[in-house]
Amino acid sequence: MLNAHYAALRVVTVRRAFNLLVKRDDSQNPVAEVVSIEDGRYVSYDFQDWVELSALKLEIEAEDHDWVRTVRVYLAAPRIIRVLTFAKLPREEVKFNRRSVLARDDFRCQYCGKRFQTAELTLDHVIPRSQSGPTTWENVVAACPRCNVRKGGRTPTQAGLRLMREPVKPHRNPTVTVRLSDRRYALWRPFLDRVTWDVEHS
Ligand SMILES: [Zn+2]
Repeated sequence: MLNAHYAALRVVTVRRAFNLLVKRDDSQNPVAEVVSIEDGRYVSYDFQDWVELSALKLEIEAEDHDWVRTVRVYLAAPRIIRVLTFAKLPREEVKFNRRSVLARDDFRCQYCGKRFQTAELTLDHVIPRSQSGPTTWENVVAACPRCNVRKGGRTPTQAGLRLMREPVKPHRNPTVTVRLSDRRYALWRPFLDRVTWDVEHS
């Protein structure tokens, strides 16, 4: 997703992209458009145009796109949308789940600092459940099985362990990452080359 200046904002789900594309602001103007790269040029489409173009793409280049099936039509999933409004968009709630916690913690055990595969990591309650520790962003961290066992049903202090950093709720969804080596996302490169990802946008 780009802002009105064509700077990359963030990666959004196809569902959210379509929600933005059909949305109108208070003056009935669209709040977002599809940006498509055709023969090296940027071409923009409003939602209705994209619906029509999708019908054509389905016929002639179906294998080049991901498809979203709606009640009546197949729509090509846009790779890029551009937000036209400067108004604030509603913030996407960051989903609290295993994958987001691991992503927030950079797939590192928060006690020994080593990096592990997703399947190897466990989730640890910093203040254990047996001591009324809640299951929240602030109390759940990634831990390797070894550190988790060593910690047992104790707090880090009681177990003589130290957290690498204070767990907090992330500002944006850390689970949405894009492999830019993926052919389908090569389109993003020109925007990412000159981007500051850390700008707070929403
Ligand atoms: Zn560890």
